[in-house]
Amino acid sequence: MSETVLEIHLPNLRHNYTFLRNQLSANTKLLAVVKAFGYGSDAIEIAKCLVAQGVDYLGVAYVHEGVALRKAGITTPILVLHPQLPNLDALIEYKLEPSVYGHRILNALLSKIKESNISHFPVHLKFNTGLNRLGFDPKDATALLALCKDNALWLLLQGVYSHLAASDDEDENAFTKKQLKTFSEIVAVFSSAYPNTTFHVLNTSGVLHFPESQYNMVRTGISLYGYGNHPSIDAQLKPVLRLRTVISQIHILEEGDTLGYNRAFIAKTRTKTATLPLGHADGIGRIYGNGKGYVMINGQQASILGNVCMDMIMVDVTDIDCEAGDTVTVIGPDASAEDLANAAGTISYELITALSQRIQRRVIS
Ligand SMILES: *Cc1c(COP(=O)(O)O)cnc(C)c1O
Repeated sequence: MSETVLEIHLPNLRHNYTFLRNQLSANTKLLAVVKAFGYGSDAIEIAKCLVAQGVDYLGVAYVHEGVALRKAGITTPILVLHPQLPNLDALIEYKLEPSVYGHRILNALLSKIKESNISHFPVHLKFNTGLNRLGFDPKDATALLALCKDNALWLLLQGVYSHLAASDDEDENAFTKKQLKTFSEIVAVFSSAYPNTTFHVLNTSGVLHFPESQYNMVRTGISLYGYGNHPSIDAQLKPVLRLRTVISQIHILEEGDTLGYNRAFIAKTRTKTATLPLGHADGIGRIYGNGKGYVMINGQQASILGNVCMDMIMVDVTDIDCEAGDTVTVIGPDASAEDLANAAGTISYELITALSQRIQRRVIS
C-alpha cells in the first residue's frame, strides 16, 4: 500500500446479496438501495454487479443519482425516494420512478406528464406511518385511490410504500408493529383495485426482524454493504469496503510536546506517532479525533491523537513496531466500520457514506 485506497470487494457484495435473497419468499422482489454513491462506495459498480445478480429494482435518494446510473447504461427500474420539483423533467426523461410523497409533488408531476402527453407513468405513493419525515397521511389512502383511478390514463400505480422508524431497535418493536399494521390497512385499500402493485415497507432490519411483512418487495441498503445493525447478522455478512492507507512519517514526542492543531494532544510521556494521509476531507470526521477513533497497524490498534486535520491524522504507535511505508487498515476484516463508528458515537451508515470522492476507489471483482 503506497497511498489511501478504498477497495470495493464485489465477491462480498454478491455474498451479501445471496444472504438477503435467502431471507425472502420466492415472489418478493429485492430493491437495492444505492443512494449516496452506493453508501460511500461506487454506485455504478455496485449497481452493475447487482444487476448481473438479477436484482429487481434499484433505489436512490435524488434524481441526479438515478440519472448517473442511466448514463452508465443501467436499464433496471429505479425508484427515486426523495425527488425534488426542479428535477421532474430529468426524472421523466431518464425513466426514473418517483416516490410521490405529498400533494405538491403529485400535482407538479401530473401537470408535467399531461403537458408532455405521457401515459401510464409509473409512480410509488409514499405513506407516513410514524417516521413523520415524508409521506401522505394514511387517512388519505381512500382519496388517493380515487385519484389514481381518475388519472388511470396518466398514472400507473407501480408501488405503495412506507418506511420504518426503528426496525433495528428491539425496544421499539411495539412501535414498529403499529407502523406495520397501519401499512397493512393502506395495502388493503389499494390491493383489490391494484393487485399488481408492489407494496414495500421493509429496510434491512425490517427484513431481518419482521419477515412476515415482506409483501412483494423489500428495500435493502446497509446489509448489502456488509452491516446488519446487529452482531449476529454482521457475522453472516461480509463488508464490501476496505479502507487502507500508509504511514507517511513517524515522529517522537518528548514529555510536554504537543501534537497537531490547537495542540489538542499533550504528550505525558515519550510518545511515538505515525502521520497518515487521510483526514476529515476524506470522511474521517473530527468526531474520531482525541482518542475516540483508531486504525489497525500490524495487527494492533493505534488511536487517533489530537484533532483530525483536513488531510491527515496522527495515531499513537508508541507500542507498535512499525515504520514509514507500512500499511494501515482503517476499515477491513480486522477493523469493522461498525466498531469504529460506535467508538465515536455514530453508526456505520454515517462513517461509510462520508468516505469522500477524493479517496481512490479500486474495484476487486
Ligand atoms: C435508505 C433507505 C432504505 C435502506 O435502508 P437500510 O437500513 O440501509 O437497509 C430503505 N428505504 C428508504 C426509504 C430509505 O431512505
